[in-house]
Amino acid sequence: MFENLSDKLDRAFKVLKGQGTITEINVAETMKEIRKALLDADVNYKTAKAFTDDVRQKALGQNVLTAVSPGQLLTKLMNDELAELMGGTTAELTFPATPTIILIAGLNGAGKTTFTGKLANYLKTQKNKKPLLVADDIYRPAAIDQLEVLGQQIGIPVYANRDSKDPIAIAREGIALAKQNGHNVVIIDTAGRLAIDEAMMVEIEQVKAAVNPHEILFVVDSMTGQDAVNTAKTFNDRLDFTGVVLTKLDGDTRGGAALSIKSVVNKPIKFIGTGEKMEALDVFHPDRMASRILGMGDVVSLVERAQQQFDEKEAAELQKKIRKNKFDFNDFYSQIQQIKKMGNMKDLMGMIPGVGKMMKDVEVDDNAFKAIEAIIQSMTPFEKGNPETINQSRRTRIAKGSGTDLAEVNRLMKQFDDMKKVMKQMSNPAAMASMMRRMP
Ligand code: GDP
Repeated sequence: MFENLSDKLDRAFKVLKGQGTITEINVAETMKEIRKALLDADVNYKTAKAFTDDVRQKALGQNVLTAVSPGQLLTKLMNDELAELMGGTTAELTFPATPTIILIAGLNGAGKTTFTGKLANYLKTQKNKKPLLVADDIYRPAAIDQLEVLGQQIGIPVYANRDSKDPIAIAREGIALAKQNGHNVVIIDTAGRLAIDEAMMVEIEQVKAAVNPHEILFVVDSMTGQDAVNTAKTFNDRLDFTGVVLTKLDGDTRGGAALSIKSVVNKPIKFIGTGEKMEALDVFHPDRMASRILGMGDVVSLVERAQQQFDEKEAAELQKKIRKNKFDFNDFYSQIQQIKKMGNMKDLMGMIPGVGKMMKDVEVDDNAFKAIEAIIQSMTPFEKGNPETINQSRRTRIAKGSGTDLAEVNRLMKQFDDMKKVMKQMSNPAAMASMMRRMP
């Protein structure tokens, strides 16, 4: 995410490296580089200029404390200002009524339907809501099919009426059904078009007028850069939406849309899509995104993602097993599945401070676990439950069965043993305390 921009900003800061003070000249030079970096990232020209003018003024007005270098000072300033540019504080969804009605709008291909599913899944699993989805695209039967498949996958009902050609009626029917069945959120996926189209705008305005939604979320593909910003402006002029959803931030988007949308349409980004899976949705936090752009990592989001996947009961079971030294390959396998659910590997690593920059050119294969999984799958149930019985001849068979080789199986067995040892130590408070004492 935004690697190029991070890289260029980093280089811009180098101008100040080794300089003892902030002066008119070195700040002007740094700002020129920063503005170039922003323009390259497809940030709107006016936004980039206003931003750098603002940072310059603030930088010159700062008293440089002896404790921080001009570079550090500017990084902090940039962090605050970038966060401000993207909206400052986190804009949460509101649930002012039961049911709360959320209308989803955007062009075809932006990721509307995918987001509709992700949002429902998020509200169900993280916010304890009981959503109903409404398929309100009367033009593309495939869009209804797609939403129904997603609904099934996440276990959330979908209301559709394939015989109707009246989006207003369908939306109303959906809301009535939600009230009847005790759903507290209704998410309406509307029809898009390939480009801005008057008929589409009129239709969605009519649906809005008929159902009075509490939230209107505009979904836009971040890969489309300035186009995303222009489309957002047109939709906002007509719909006065309440928030933006930026999709496909897992791709090699340059970041311009994320940085310009707030200042152009003055509406907050509420969510970002970071993959095709239903779990690949994040609440947008301007401050955390700013740190990521500056290559400072985003540990808070990383921890949160881990917590979302964390099942307390399962963890307690696991603890017990570790204490009794009974952790086996079944547990190992299910741990891998949990890590995989957290999302794209490169994205996860980018959240660790300093690692994002390092990983820029490294191809992180999401299939990194494939070989390990294949090896574990080639074990018999007995072997999975009793790793100590996996002797040389069993290893040879497992290597063959998994399409790997003996060295790879041996390596996994060794890693597994090492891991078990560490786990055992960590589960014993006395041993842990002694280990901590030995730390430098
Ligand atoms: P719609 O026409 O606006 O409803 O768009 P879809 O929801 O059908 O999405 C279009 C394509 O984009 C599909 O192939 C989705 O899997 C993909 N997509 C949606 N959101 C994301 C995202 O956040 N990241 C990635 N990589 N792909 C996405």
